[in-house]
Amino acid sequence: MQVLFVSSEVAPIIKTGGLADVSGALTSALQQMGVDIRVLLPGYSKVLKALPDLELVLDFSAHPPLGITELPPSRLLLGTLPGGVPVYVLDCPEMYLRGGGIYLDEHGIDWADNAQRFGLFSRVAAMLGSAESPLQWRPDVVHCNDWQSGLTPAYLHYMRDPAPCVMTVHNLAFQGVFPSALVPELGLPWDCFKPDGAEFYGDLSFLKAGLFYAQHITTVSPSYAKEIQTEALGFGLQGLLSHRSDSLTGILNGIDTEEWNPAADAYLAHAYSSEDMSGKAANKLALQKRMGLHEDAEIPLLGIVSRFAHQKGLDVVLEIAEKLIAMPAQLVLLGSGDTEMQRDVLALAHQHTGKIAAYVGFDESLSHLIEAGADIFLMPSRFEPCGLNQMYSQRYGTPPVVHATGGLIDTVVDCTPASLATGEASGFVFGKMDAASLLLAVRRALRLYQDKKSWFALQQICMNKDFGWGSSAKAYQQIYIDLIKR
Ligand code: ADP
Repeated sequence: MQVLFVSSEVAPIIKTGGLADVSGALTSALQQMGVDIRVLLPGYSKVLKALPDLELVLDFSAHPPLGITELPPSRLLLGTLPGGVPVYVLDCPEMYLRGGGIYLDEHGIDWADNAQRFGLFSRVAAMLGSAESPLQWRPDVVHCNDWQSGLTPAYLHYMRDPAPCVMTVHNLAFQGVFPSALVPELGLPWDCFKPDGAEFYGDLSFLKAGLFYAQHITTVSPSYAKEIQTEALGFGLQGLLSHRSDSLTGILNGIDTEEWNPAADAYLAHAYSSEDMSGKAANKLALQKRMGLHEDAEIPLLGIVSRFAHQKGLDVVLEIAEKLIAMPAQLVLLGSGDTEMQRDVLALAHQHTGKIAAYVGFDESLSHLIEAGADIFLMPSRFEPCGLNQMYSQRYGTPPVVHATGGLIDTVVDCTPASLATGEASGFVFGKMDAASLLLAVRRALRLYQDKKSWFALQQICMNKDFGWGSSAKAYQQIYIDLIKR
């Protein structure tokens, strides 16, 4: 079985969030199961630097035009990801080789040509999945991820001998909506620009195109699969998604258990495992030291690693931060995003030196150290398609406090005397998304934290849970098999 996995980011090469983690780990898991899977990735500068042995496969100047007007020089290269999965890199310097971020410029503003950048990306994926491809390797299935590859199923719909498509939604809030005037420039027929197609209230929606034209839709947790069919979390696409509910599956993300393994994590000050937890205390002290917090083994340390966005509920944490540290507790935050939130976080840390510490930016090593060194992880997301940090934190013996939404419901079992006794408890879940409920849940966690025996029991359950990709990768494989049969 041959699968082309189309993703705009893949860990450990290029990452802004969970999509990268999933793309890296899921493709590896599928390859280990015998699927001939290849990734398609844009040739950002970080990608070209990380993969020096790329070979030229196709030069688009010598290949029949892709139907995109004014196509800058572009080539297709082939290499291998660090885990061993082959990767096609779309090398188009004018579109992908620049400073700033992969979606945003250095001021945090969307690149003005994102439609062209990811339109071309989607168009090349479609070419590789159709009779138009000059390559010998032809996928049986094209697996698209989020809006950046959302146009692929639409292009394929109008092509000869198209492979069937799976469209995976990692976050419905990001849809790639652009002016309709771009339809011809992107080489799409006007025929697709209709409510039953790629049109979304007069604009062109990359994600809607994917959801409409893909043969199957998946999202990253069973609870989120239900939530996106409702008005509250459907972001205007709930009608289409409920209409397609027979072709919509929620498959829980796994985690890369090698990358996120406290017993062999090079980013940690000390390795530890559920059998020998002594290293966890050492990581706590290392984290306190690194972040300028008072070095104190006894005070509970609350950790956050998050995009700073309304979705993640950080504003609610800030609202109660002073109450949290008065409990007493310490708070450490790592993240970036919303400039106002960044400013508020830094101001608060400045005001409470030694008790609240923050680093604004993207720092892989610090994110691992927080998972290991904190006692309790906070993740009060307003909505959460799956979420990875609450799984990482459990694996690191750092029970999470989470809002009951999406994948957080599917991965965290609220701790009660009964669930602790049955060995199911794995964190603290609160129902209502507000400051009082979050505070109450943290209070419950801190109370249990004082009871060392119960806390240890909770940590043991968390650390011994299976978060591997095994069963989820099989579920994706089954979807591929069903599509090929059809
Ligand atoms: P989302 O994809 O919505 O941002 P997830 O929980 O699914 O949220 O995945 C986020 C991923 O990005 C995790 O691997 C997390 O550790 C990582 N991450 C987020 N912000 C940072 C940061 N500032 N520095 C390092 N890693 C981060």
